[in-house]
Amino acid sequence: MKIQADPSSGEENPETDRFYMKTALAEAGKAAERDEVPVGALVVYQGEVIGQAHNRREELHDPLAHAELLALQAASRRLGDWRLSGSALYVTLEPCIMCVGAILQARVSRVAFGCLDPRAGAVESLYRLCEDSRLNPRPSVTSGIMTEECSRILNKFFVRLREKKVSAFSDQLSAKEDCWNPKTER
Ligand code: ZN
Repeated sequence: MKIQADPSSGEENPETDRFYMKTALAEAGKAAERDEVPVGALVVYQGEVIGQAHNRREELHDPLAHAELLALQAASRRLGDWRLSGSALYVTLEPCIMCVGAILQARVSRVAFGCLDPRAGAVESLYRLCEDSRLNPRPSVTSGIMTEECSRILNKFFVRLREKKVSAFSDQLSAKEDCWNPKTER
């Protein structure tokens, strides 16, 4: 999959961003089908997707198996290098503290995400780690890409989960209800 614009250049291109976010949304859809919280991510390097993944915490019994981490691991394996400088990470939901940590460790150049996560977001909502001048290098950030679609898939998932009355999720459900309020589409 190759397109002209280079999304890791730091230059914002709404067309390119929507193109890649659609792929991230398709990954999120795979998670929903497997009863995982639907979040999808991908890493783009020199106009090519070098890693893509969805949240697999339930399947892998792994608290680290967030979409972003799995996409970063796939990308690093593909490049044969843990350094992902020059790459861009797209994710449907604002990354958490752990994932921003991994993004910084991998030296990703740009982060582009869909909707905000008011409960755990570490880019804009709870923390603004990508703006902390003590951390270097820091990625540039673009938020609000296809935010309606990204929040809709999450809200739909949790509505369906409530309907199923899965007791194991009851705490999570009451806390997460109506959590993803999309911000203004850019
Ligand atoms: Zn995360």
